[in-house]
Amino acid sequence: MSDVVDNIFIYTDPERCMGCHSCELACAMSHSSYDFNSAVLAGVVLIPRNKVIAIKNQTTTAQCVQCEAPCLDACKSNCMTREAVGVIKIDEEKCIGCKLCFKACTYDSITMVEIPQEEPTDGKKKRKKLKAFKCDLCFDRIDVDGSLHSACVEACPTDAIIITRDNSYRIKSLSLRGY
Ligand code: SF4
Ligand code: SF4
Repeated sequence: MSDVVDNIFIYTDPERCMGCHSCELACAMSHSSYDFNSAVLAGVVLIPRNKVIAIKNQTTTAQCVQCEAPCLDACKSNCMTREAVGVIKIDEEKCIGCKLCFKACTYDSITMVEIPQEEPTDGKKKRKKLKAFKCDLCFDRIDVDGSLHSACVEACPTDAIIITRDNSYRIKSLSLRGY
């Protein structure tokens, strides 16, 4: 992982995580144009880009570790970019759901999500539309001074989640996930 040492990423300390799922909800909300109440009323499913996982007697989160990004190289639709500080971002509007990034990801960190489509009016069968979702550290919320406001970090009641460049945490996080 020599060329990823400067990429920032999220690490969740299993010693502090209590598995409350606040980070998942915060993540889903920060990537949605709906607030919680209007999403419930409209029947919109809020989808997080992170996942709380259990390991033995502890919990932590699994999400993209902003690695060398074979996903970015695999994408042929030019909808993935390497942003400042090494964050790999998907433009979900441009994503055509081809799954190339999903297949290329070494760490199972991309989720393919079915987006509800309007019922066709011409009698044709409704087609499935997929989009690739992954953690982008809430890059759209970056300050002009470069500081990030990742929703999961701000929501965690036990301060279990940190943003770091320390590659030893990346190795620790992947090892917890069995890599
Ligand atoms: S918000 Fe914090 S304590 Fe709750 S599940 Fe996420 S990491 Fe664990
Ligand atoms: S989605 Fe997978 S391959 Fe792409 S940067 Fe994240 S961990 Fe690496």
